[in-house]
Amino acid sequence: MREVTIHDTYSGAVVPLQPRGPARVGIYACGPTVYSRIHIGNARPFVVFGLLARFLEHEGYAVRLVMNVTDVNDKIYDAAGPLGRPSAELAAEMTEHYRADTDALGLGRPDEEPLASETIGPIVDYIAALVERGHAYAADGDVYFAVRSDERYGSLSHRLLENMDQGEDAAGSPAAQRKRDPLDFALWKAHKPGEDTVWDSPWGPGRPGWHIECSAMAEGALGVGFEIHGGGSDLVFPHHENEAAQTRAARGTELARIWMHNGMIQLTGEKMAKSAGNIAPLHEVIERWGAEAVVMYLVSGHYRQPLAFSQDALEQAEANVKRIREAGRRLADGDSPADLDRLRDRFFDALARDFNTPEALAVLNEWIREATGSVAEGAGNAHLREMLGVLGLESLLAADQPAPGEVVELAQRREQARRERDFQHADRLRDEIAARGWEVRDVAGGFELLPR
Ligand SMILES: [Zn+2]
Repeated sequence: MREVTIHDTYSGAVVPLQPRGPARVGIYACGPTVYSRIHIGNARPFVVFGLLARFLEHEGYAVRLVMNVTDVNDKIYDAAGPLGRPSAELAAEMTEHYRADTDALGLGRPDEEPLASETIGPIVDYIAALVERGHAYAADGDVYFAVRSDERYGSLSHRLLENMDQGEDAAGSPAAQRKRDPLDFALWKAHKPGEDTVWDSPWGPGRPGWHIECSAMAEGALGVGFEIHGGGSDLVFPHHENEAAQTRAARGTELARIWMHNGMIQLTGEKMAKSAGNIAPLHEVIERWGAEAVVMYLVSGHYRQPLAFSQDALEQAEANVKRIREAGRRLADGDSPADLDRLRDRFFDALARDFNTPEALAVLNEWIREATGSVAEGAGNAHLREMLGVLGLESLLAADQPAPGEVVELAQRREQARRERDFQHADRLRDEIAARGWEVRDVAGGFELLPR
């Protein structure tokens, strides 16, 4: 088992992963708010934290990965209203889409995926504990967290109180006037006309705020003081700052030991946000490029850095996927040469150092160069299978499916055209074969068909 280090936003340093119990690691990563189809930006935390869990399991840790679904939220009411649809129905539909769209990445699912709408009881209890301990107060059916009651507020995002804006309510709005301090944020929001989901609480009918949902879902799944809390860097403030404050105030302890944040996906240099009108729905990106190229693209940059979303970047990922698939075809199943152990070890060492996937990929490509250089000595693919498994790309070693009959027939007609020296016709047929997703290659005594 390697020592694993991870960058922690709270301490601002790369720190060793130190599990509570021997070799047990709980990871909670904030999942999507389900008001529309998810985009490539939402796929990044899904992939980063999913693959981190795979890597830690490879190292011998027992990992529990939890990714929630935020299905009660202002954004959902705002989206459902203009569509004339019940908000719960829209959220349920988009939750199904989220599951299908992320399933298509081929990485499996987190161990647990709690829904806010199914955690209302524990959320209400959590708020009650905060009120009882004097960290929250009710006001006209709302309940607010008293930010200044938490001495360590700001310690995660490293912001000063005077520079903070919860972004909840416009100054002077009725909700803003109910707050004792503009810094405070909502734990419970009284029912408003136009909101079509509502639950009972000791403070009257209403629904929870976003931040308390995650504190309750995380604690319900992993307890407090678990190993890694993750999410996009856009969540550090206010969402994670508030989650951390709630848990300190209600439980007297920190929610997580390490706060790990992934950088944003950038579309034409801008942070990708649906509100900005940038569109790259995950299911469309997967349809266009294939799941393996999308995963390859997402691991091609270090998780903490912003990652540009561009035609170029996806083409590079596609070429890399193709190169690995080609190499896989040339290697037999079985043991890899022992003198390549050092490269396999360097691959996993890179992942152990703050989950450095681009460095690991560079080592993987080095392994391929050396292994395919010794194919004559019968190099086996065991190392490659092990490395690709942790990246969720083991499918690149799957045996090729036979080409469908119509493609074989096109290839036969092309062979005929070549025999008749009608090369123009042969080229057209090759393009037709390519358009169906296959590549025809001339080999001794005929042709072979490979998936493109
Ligand atoms: Zn969250």
